[in-house]
Amino acid sequence: MGRLAEITDLERTAMLLAWDQEVCMPRGAAADHGELRATIDRLTHERFVDERVGELLEAASPRDEIEADVVRTARREYDKARRVPGDLVAEITRAAANARAAWLEATEANAFAPFAPFLERNVELRRELSACFPEADHPYDPLLDDFEPGMRTADASAALERLRDGLVPMVAGVAPSDEASLDLQGDASLPEAGQRALVRTVLDALGADDDHWRLDEAAHPFSSGITATDIRITTRYHEHDLESLLSTLHEFGHGLYERQVDPALARTPLGHGASAAWHESQSRLWENMVGRSPGFWRWCMPHAQAALPGYFAERTWQEVQRSVNAVRRTLIRVSADEVTYGLHVIVRFELELALIEGELAVADLPAAWNDRMLAYLGVEVPDDRQGVLQDVHWSEGLFGYFPTYAIGNVIAGQLWTRICDELPDIEERFAAGDFAPLREWLGEHVHRHGRRLMPDELLQEVVGGPLDPGPYLAYLERKLQASAQLMA
Ligand code: ZN
Repeated sequence: MGRLAEITDLERTAMLLAWDQEVCMPRGAAADHGELRATIDRLTHERFVDERVGELLEAASPRDEIEADVVRTARREYDKARRVPGDLVAEITRAAANARAAWLEATEANAFAPFAPFLERNVELRRELSACFPEADHPYDPLLDDFEPGMRTADASAALERLRDGLVPMVAGVAPSDEASLDLQGDASLPEAGQRALVRTVLDALGADDDHWRLDEAAHPFSSGITATDIRITTRYHEHDLESLLSTLHEFGHGLYERQVDPALARTPLGHGASAAWHESQSRLWENMVGRSPGFWRWCMPHAQAALPGYFAERTWQEVQRSVNAVRRTLIRVSADEVTYGLHVIVRFELELALIEGELAVADLPAAWNDRMLAYLGVEVPDDRQGVLQDVHWSEGLFGYFPTYAIGNVIAGQLWTRICDELPDIEERFAAGDFAPLREWLGEHVHRHGRRLMPDELLQEVVGGPLDPGPYLAYLERKLQASAQLMA
């Protein structure tokens, strides 16, 4: 246990360095900080894959249930890490660094071709990694398992196909005139100082106290639970939209998950959220089910009017709530609305799956991308920058990560159905600025477990069934109907 605590400490230290790099490091220090992180990462890896750890895990006689869970999880990760040769790990890191630089240049030049050989290398190395697990049913399984322990490609594909088949007609049914009339963009009257004040008010109401939370600014908002007592979230301020508020709600959801993990799991490998999709379910739940709800806007409106009178004074909460729920068929995933978002993710999932299977050549990727965007979202992609080059993930060699965004939404839909059953006055609580019932429900049913249960076991425990896109699709359908009624 002592050895695992030490390794956990090293991982947390790496997170602190990563946070520092994104938030407050002087720009000129990037190379030196790179060395600091590389050393910490190497020490962490070496101390973990050491044979002694295997012996200790073999000989461990757990004193309680938590220790038994720690040993089981650590064994699983140890066995997985030991199967991958150190040289391959190093080569993956090196290739990703080169590909990331090539991606930045290609994006600037708005041309996919110069990036293609680097992406090919990343795909090749991921296929080599996958080959370290010959018993897997599918070559994508070991990659997905890094983010969703235990999930198989077949299960992810089945769930996302159902989601896609539900979303495509839903998106196609939104009339273009509706999209334009709900436009919040273009109003250049959301001064940064007012946004900061509003975000602070909202965070206080949600329960992010200064003793354990920090809010900073970052180019790409993220959150870090350094420990359960040190939660750091970031946002960014644009004068033409409300992204600062919705992204704060999103990151609050991630942060709250880490904040409410059982303190008994501190300094163990179990002291985090269960998986990438489970984490995303929490962020999306606070961003969408809370931040885009009528109850939230009934409560928030007077605060928004006080902080940002130029924009909000002339509007009603109904108008604002409708505008934050507008559906737009657009090209860019990170600014996509709640309804189209899933399709942006599914395009990426299907394409990366085909790349790993060897069914799609990298050279054919841009054309395949454009075809699918047209088929699913009905949009023509004008160039690679607004198409296949828009996300950093593939340049960093991240394959298996994209589907967790959509699966997170699916889980959020299942949780929300359960929450509305058990807390029937939840909207009224939001309208009163009382977010404690939701916070406490999530803490009790989801957060406190940390990683003690596998992701599918946790879902079974909380909603009593397997992954099911049905509730999420029904939730979106209800929203679209409500907004269509308001428009009529
Ligand atoms: Zn997130």
